[in-house]
Amino acid sequence: MQNNVDKEKIEQAVKMILEAIGEDPNREGLKDTPSRVARMYEEITAGYNQDPKDYLCRTFNFDGEDVVLEKDIDFASTCEHHLMPFFGHVLIAYIPDGKIVGLSKLGRLVDCFAKRLQMQERLTQQIADAVFSELNAKGVLVIIEGEHTCMTARGIKKVGTITKTMATRGYMTNEMISHILEIAK
Ligand code: ZN
Repeated sequence: MQNNVDKEKIEQAVKMILEAIGEDPNREGLKDTPSRVARMYEEITAGYNQDPKDYLCRTFNFDGEDVVLEKDIDFASTCEHHLMPFFGHVLIAYIPDGKIVGLSKLGRLVDCFAKRLQMQERLTQQIADAVFSELNAKGVLVIIEGEHTCMTARGIKKVGTITKTMATRGYMTNEMISHILEIAK
């Protein structure tokens, strides 16, 4: 999907950063860097043009109130405070109310929110809200484990630190959460 990013503007900005840090933007290794970075930004912000509803609108009828769980959904996103990557895994569990969605669609839903400038906390909430409202789920649990390169490659340089965030919506008791975490092991 085509994004509306102004690649020329990004190229100019990257060239200015290179100059500002004392580099020569025309040297062999750097001469294509501005255009590469511009294309990269187009890719990592592609989610702004995607509507989460598109991934959750085609559903299947489903009888019962058993938990649907998908875990280890990979994601890579961009921290809005440092413009550096953070990445990890998402767990989505929901209690359907008459309809479920194809499992691959949950992965696409995650991507649609991850390919934006993000905070892990908000990413977690947005996924939970979308599943809750679009599927009319009775209850939703989303857990994200993320590694932030703005913490590991700069600043406090705590390599291996994992940030865990959780969001629940609707009917989701502590007992159900423990049960889901047990299944997810
Ligand atoms: Zn950051």
